[in-house]
Amino acid sequence: MSALVAAQPVDRPAPRPELRVDTTAIAANVRAAATSSGVAVMAVVKADGFGAGAVPAARAALAAGATWLGTATLDEAVALRRAGLAAPLLCWLLPIDARWEAALRLRIDLAVASHAHLRAITRAARRAGVRARVHLHVDTGMARDGAPLGAWPALVAGAAAAERAGLVEVVGVMGHLARADEPADPSNAAGVRTYRSALDAALAAGLRPTVRHLAATEAALRLPAAAFDLVRIGAGLVGIGPGLRPALTLTAPVVLTRRVEAGTPIGYGHTATTERATTLALLPLGYADGLPRRIDPRAEVLLGGRRCRVLGRVSMDQAVVDAGPRGVRPGAVATVFGPGDDGEPTAADWASWAGTIEHDVVTGIGARVARVVDGRA
Ligand SMILES: *Cc1c(COP(=O)(O)O)cnc(C)c1O
Repeated sequence: MSALVAAQPVDRPAPRPELRVDTTAIAANVRAAATSSGVAVMAVVKADGFGAGAVPAARAALAAGATWLGTATLDEAVALRRAGLAAPLLCWLLPIDARWEAALRLRIDLAVASHAHLRAITRAARRAGVRARVHLHVDTGMARDGAPLGAWPALVAGAAAAERAGLVEVVGVMGHLARADEPADPSNAAGVRTYRSALDAALAAGLRPTVRHLAATEAALRLPAAAFDLVRIGAGLVGIGPGLRPALTLTAPVVLTRRVEAGTPIGYGHTATTERATTLALLPLGYADGLPRRIDPRAEVLLGGRRCRVLGRVSMDQAVVDAGPRGVRPGAVATVFGPGDDGEPTAADWASWAGTIEHDVVTGIGARVARVVDGRA
């Protein structure tokens, strides 16, 4: 019965908080990244597809021409395979004792950033009697998850030996840029140079990686020199990035309204007080649902066709908005963020009110918020 109910199309917003996912926007964003970079697209659907749902985001991206999938963790990659997605799939954030056998069995490509990881993978490949598909990961200037240049010669030599032994296939070489959102920053050109020298070292060691990838969303859109063979598009799928189409809309129904006088203190700590007689509307959405707790007093939602301020502290489960002296009709639904077409705030607005970035806002939307993909729950 619940499956039947869940399959109902949703014609109008349901009386519950919802994150509505527009897969036509995801598809348009994939095509924009492909056109602007001129190369193949990997859909990076980590962190539950940037809030959109990893599986629906992956399906929409593949249907729009993406040819690879990517995740941070192995569990995320395994979940995609279990959902029946068979496209080439890479994950890159792997503890040394990861479930390598599961990765090999499911034909999941593995990023390798240290010689210790390479050894663990070759041991697992020997036990399983298969060849592991790996992408050597070089640090191109982040001091984060790639191998430092000093460790690169030993890593490529080890990978070449493992390839000759039939235990791995070096499919790709990857890097990642720290400041691609500032295309003129000299660290980008330096990162491209580092990446090229890492590629040269791999070739000199006898490796022939066919999938060279350095760019994520911002670089795919703004740094042609970083495109190589493949761009990894994560945030861009949901419309974070210049010229892209926002794919996510967060809504919440009003659960209670009240008339209050001027001077009414609101919420924990009484951090706000009404300046006039007005109507307060209560939304069942709090910081446990990803509504940021630390926000600028200018934060707003769209309610009854008007922008309405959030008043006082955001609680764990609920937030109060100023619906104005005229109030709102019963059953009204607030739009917290969306593409902005109807005057609602965007995720970028919320990011600026919360002193963070859109990525943080969209990936923070909690599990209590129902996902509705193209109008279907
Ligand atoms: C998250 C991530 C991506 C995707 O980056 P976006 O800027 O979200 O497109 C690509 N590569 C790596 C290594 C990542 O961690």
